[in-house]
Amino acid sequence: MDDINLQPDSIAAQALGWIDEATRAITPPIHVSSTYLRDPDNGYRSGRIYARADNPAFDQAEAVIARLENGARAALFASGMAAATAVFQALAPGDHVLAPKVMYWSLRNWLMNFATQWGLNVEFIDMTDVGTVEAAIRPGKTRLVWIETPANPLWTITDIAATAAIAHRAGALVAVDSTVASPVLTRPIEHGADIVMHAATKYLNGHSDLIAGVLITREDDDFWKRVKTIRAQLGGTLGSFEAWLLLRGMRTLFLRVRAASQSAQRIAEHFARHEHVEAVLYPGLADSHGHANAARQMHGGFGGMLSIRAKGGEAAAIATAANVALWKRATSLGGTESLIEHRASIEGAGTPAPVDLLRLSVGIEDCGDLIDDLDQALRRAHR
Ligand SMILES: *Cc1c(COP(=O)(O)O)cnc(C)c1O
Repeated sequence: MDDINLQPDSIAAQALGWIDEATRAITPPIHVSSTYLRDPDNGYRSGRIYARADNPAFDQAEAVIARLENGARAALFASGMAAATAVFQALAPGDHVLAPKVMYWSLRNWLMNFATQWGLNVEFIDMTDVGTVEAAIRPGKTRLVWIETPANPLWTITDIAATAAIAHRAGALVAVDSTVASPVLTRPIEHGADIVMHAATKYLNGHSDLIAGVLITREDDDFWKRVKTIRAQLGGTLGSFEAWLLLRGMRTLFLRVRAASQSAQRIAEHFARHEHVEAVLYPGLADSHGHANAARQMHGGFGGMLSIRAKGGEAAAIATAANVALWKRATSLGGTESLIEHRASIEGAGTPAPVDLLRLSVGIEDCGDLIDDLDQALRRAHR
């Protein structure tokens, strides 16, 4: 299917249309071998030696993701965190890095507590403001600008194209954690990003049944070779069965993300007017801070993630989460089932999440059911 011009929906639905050469199977086998036969003349003409470095179980999933993101190559990792940290580990001690103040909590934590100890000079800034980026970037010194958009847990939006232009003028790479947008809504490479990262655990797989990560690169360059070496040597490699599950999950990616985005928009609009809700944070709301940028770089919806701030503070927020029946109280996002989470409890001290904030991951259930359940939970919390 490489030579025909297909919409990404068609690429995902058929996982690039590959057929197993040996059996004519439409779905691939699960390759589990850890090692590969060496040729009698001592060569490795298959190109495969050992499955920590490379595994045929990755080929199809990586090809699908690279195609969906319009990148040169993709590499699967054992988790989103393994993928993200590989990008930072490919840098050198002393390198200056810009990261957002509002970002996925575990990665922020690792950057603060580990990356800095290994000599990276990480500076956390308001990435949603191009003036701040312009002021913080150090030409020739800043090696990487890390963007997350929409960003956990406030769903703030960073203008990828404007930020990439500043970064590239200064000689820095741009990496985008695009987990929440997914390639259905945003393709960061088309807006100037050099590296795209996904927690494939979330929308790409979509069924809350595996942990996986992926990086996509605009170019198969020296930086990418370092990233691949880090995967092979540190061993943050995905399992074969997980790679197979991911490929299966991605076949319905477009249906799932579009359904979740449509419901999230309706839920955001509904609860923005609710008597027990202080505020709804969602880039699809026309009066939200990042709406104009989001409308420019997100196509076909604003994603399935939003947060609501309950009137009545922390106690009301926790009581609301306690009273849902259909929504599930759990961390994570991007599955078929809708999740609700009091984010400040999980992030702890230093979180940008207000104590009255509930993070919602909208799944693919009936939207009316989701609205009714959250509505009754808010009312009970306020009784
Ligand atoms: C979940 C998540 C990660 C980390 O992915 P894991 O697979 O849990 O390691 C990174 N970024 C974002 C935005 C996420 O939601």
